[in-house]
Amino acid sequence: MSARASSPVTDAGAPPVPVLTPAAEPLPGMPTPPPRDPDIRLSYSRVDTYERCPLLFKFRYIDKLPSSPSPDLSWGSAIHAALEVWWSQKLPKPPPVEVLYRALYDHWEDAGFSEMDRERKLEWYRHARDVLARHHEMYSTDYRPAVACEQWFELDIGDSVAVRGSIDHVARTASGGLGIVDWKTNRRARSRRDVANSLQLAIYTLAARELWGREPEWVALDFVVPGLRVIVERPEIDVDGALQRIRAVAGKVRDELFSASPSPLCDWCDYRGLCPAFEGDGPDVPGRALVELKRLRRRRARDEARIVELEHLVARYLGEEVTLELDVGPD
Ligand code: SF4
Repeated sequence: MSARASSPVTDAGAPPVPVLTPAAEPLPGMPTPPPRDPDIRLSYSRVDTYERCPLLFKFRYIDKLPSSPSPDLSWGSAIHAALEVWWSQKLPKPPPVEVLYRALYDHWEDAGFSEMDRERKLEWYRHARDVLARHHEMYSTDYRPAVACEQWFELDIGDSVAVRGSIDHVARTASGGLGIVDWKTNRRARSRRDVANSLQLAIYTLAARELWGREPEWVALDFVVPGLRVIVERPEIDVDGALQRIRAVAGKVRDELFSASPSPLCDWCDYRGLCPAFEGDGPDVPGRALVELKRLRRRRARDEARIVELEHLVARYLGEEVTLELDVGPD
């Protein structure tokens, strides 16, 4: 932590709790934060992008090269806007599904669909309506207006690093506490373990502590397309681990480490034409070689781990000698 942040508070026997200075744009009535100017501002997407490919991070956030709109992005942002309108209604009764439909219509952006004919665009639009209708069906029976939607925050985590972001949906729990929900518009849901390891939800947990002075009871990713909300309890979220990841990325950004890290995602990268890993874009460019190399190394690591497991099993039942004497030639 820098001099601007206080030292960690430690309860007897409990792990240290990171202490954060107030957000740059506090809620009404909250204290005005001290003036500050962090060297590095990160967000969940920035950290995630850097961890996937440092060079992509540089192209996108430092060089600020334009990217092309995609149908998935445009569609996802229209869904988010509609959900925000619906959950923000301060009504004693659940707002009707027409509120969602109207907001979808009002926030629909054609930018990502410019390459499509009218019929294809309509398919995307109808699919969005279906997704919203199911969301309405799932949540209208127990509707509680959101504490906040798209709640913006900026946290000083010390060392001239700030983390900013916006929480999709802060829910009121049945016991009067807070629940944090991030809406996802991917087609497939993620596992409970993925949700517990979510850097994004760990950052939002920190933000809730700062904005409302209390931690959420639970955090969740709501996969609105399959209609599945995966909830984990607060103790499962590794806030300290998240802070370490953010600081590690900040340090590398500060050191200007921006190497290319090819992966299958390169096929969708807007900047492939500029990327040294894909120079020439032929079948044997180093980018493709690296993707294959990573895949083979992962497979080798899996095989080696399995070999050790099997050796233990064989040794347990048949003795160490058998394992040592095993023929390593062809089957
Ligand atoms: S093409 Fe791949 S390696 Fe190159 S910048 Fe894009 S994501 Fe990174």
